[in-house]
Order: sequence, then structure tokens, then C-alpha cells
Amino acid sequence: MSLTKISLIGLGKMGTPMAQRLLKAGYQLSVYNRSKEKEETLRTMGANSAQSPALLMQQAEAIIIMVSDDQATREIFTNEQGLLSANATGKIIINMSTVSPGISKEMADLCRQQDNYYLDAPVSGSVKQAEEGQLVIMVGGEEAIFGQAKPILDQLGKLTMRVGNTGAGNTAKLAINTLLGFYAQGLAEAVVFARQHGIQTQDLITLIGNSALGNVFTKIKGEAMVANNYQAAFALKHIAKDLRLAKEEGLATPLANVVYSTFQQAEPGFGEEDIIAIFKHLIPNQPESK
Ligand code: NAP
Repeated sequence: MSLTKISLIGLGKMGTPMAQRLLKAGYQLSVYNRSKEKEETLRTMGANSAQSPALLMQQAEAIIIMVSDDQATREIFTNEQGLLSANATGKIIINMSTVSPGISKEMADLCRQQDNYYLDAPVSGSVKQAEEGQLVIMVGGEEAIFGQAKPILDQLGKLTMRVGNTGAGNTAKLAINTLLGFYAQGLAEAVVFARQHGIQTQDLITLIGNSALGNVFTKIKGEAMVANNYQAAFALKHIAKDLRLAKEEGLATPLANVVYSTFQQAEPGFGEEDIIAIFKHLIPNQPESK
């Protein structure tokens, strides 16, 4: 039986375009966001909104969550008006936030006690990929429940892959974001070094783009550094959180240790800016050489 009534909780930078895609795909969508004003765009497009996660849980067959972190996830489930306070069974809750495997296991247990189901399904890709339904989605949880959720996830991503039991999607995501941290810091350090020796950032980015090292990330973030545009697509505070989670899961390899510390140090000053603002942390106020 295919699922048609979907709810989405968390209308941030990622949740909003994901909700818009589900609406356009024809799902009956209801939404909830802690700050109510972010629901307005979705309402004008035809989504319903609810006063609490508990009400959404009663209305929908599947509930997608796209919030910041472990704490936000916990509150969505366990607050007075949270998902677990609803008198509901047989619902599939899909947590697409980047969170720890531990919180997924904990919430999955609580869901099971109520005869509801939990999948962790974090994503790789950013706002543009969310808008275009081109995310990469990695899932942990029961195979049969994954099979039911997959048609919904396929509206959001170009690849939806189950990688294991509860928490496995989160672990895969932390591995990928560790690499993302390496890329961001690596690209920024290459620009720092080149600038110190009088090479224009635009020239370096063009060279990288045409070399074997060029990719979507180096292109977008390289252009951002050239334009001096650090408005967050993926906030630096989120990668700092992900590296912290990976470390808590036992990541302790040489490069990871260094990148972890750099992002923790950068977070107080640049947390609300984009991940590539790590460049500003590495070399404050360095003018482009002419
Ligand atoms: P965001 O723009 O900062 O949005 C965060 C969302 O979480 C908002 O809807 C916020 O509600 C909600 N939230 C935070 N704390 C809450 C709480 N205690 N209770 C209820 N709701 C709470 O974040 P985002 O960029 O969309 O990212 C969402 C998740 O996707 C994060 O886990 C991030 O690591 C991951 N991710 C992001 C990207 C990206 O490029 N942006 C890419 C891949 C994965 P309010 O509006 O009320 O603050």
C-alpha cells in the first residue's frame, strides 16, 4: 500500500525545498515548524500546518523530520506536544536530520514501544540538490519499512540506499561529512597558500576546476571565496556539530583530529556563516593581492 499522507517537521534551509517537492509530487502534505512564520510559504502552496508534532502524527502516515541536531530531534519526539505524546500506531517516522546514531537508536526504541517505526535517513547534498530532488539519501532501519518509505524518498533524492540497521544511515553520513570537512579546509588552505604567493583566487579556482581535483564543491565554494560571499548554504556550525558527532563515535585519525579542532575553533566566530567561512578563520582579513 503506498503512503500518500505525509508530514514534514523543520522548515529550515533544507526542509523547505524538500516540502515543496513533496507538494509538487502530489502528496497530501502537512507541515510544522517551531517558528510559525516559516510555514507561510508552504501554506500558500497548499500544505496544511499543525500546531504541534503530536497533531501531525495523528494526521499523517509518514512523518519526515529535518531539524538541526540531536537536541532538536529529542524535543520533537519527547516534548509535551511531541510525536510520542500522540495516541497513534503504525506510523513511519523518517529522521533526515544529521544526528548521532545514538539518538536514532534511542528514538527508534521509543517508537517501537508504541508500534510505530523509525528510519534514519540523512542526506548528502545542499539546498540546490534539495530543490532539484537530487539529494543522496542513506538509510538505516528495517528493510520492509524502508521499502514502504522509498517512493517518498525517491522524490527527494537521485539515490536512496539502505546501508544497515538503525543508526547506520547516520554513521554513513558522519563518514561523508568528515570528508566534507577535509575538502572545505583543504580548499581554503590551498587558497591561503596561493594568495600568500600572489596568485589570484579566481585563477587558482579556474585551474582546480580544470584539473582532476575539480568537483561541484570546489566550484561552488571557490566562487563563494572569490565573491567574498559567506552566506550559509550549509552553516559552519552544522559541520562543527557533525565532526563532533563523528569524534564521539570514535573517529580519531590524524587528519580528522586536525579538521575537528579547526572547525571547533572557528565556530564561535563563523558558526552562522557558510562552511567555507573556514577560510576567514584561517586567514583573517587577508586582502587579495593585486
Ligand atoms: P537550518 O536552516 O538551521 O534549520 C533548522 C531547523 O531545525 C529549523 O526548522 C529549526 O526551527 C529547527 N529546530 C532547531 N532546533 C529545534 C528545536 N529545539 N525544536 C524544534 N525545531 C528545531 O538547518 P538546515 O540547513 O535546514 O539543516 C537541517 C539538517 O540537515 C541539519 O541536521 C543539517 O546538518 C542537515 N544538512 C544540511 C545541509 C545544508 O546544506 N544546509 C545539507 C545536508 C544536511 P526554527 O525555524 O524554529 O529555528
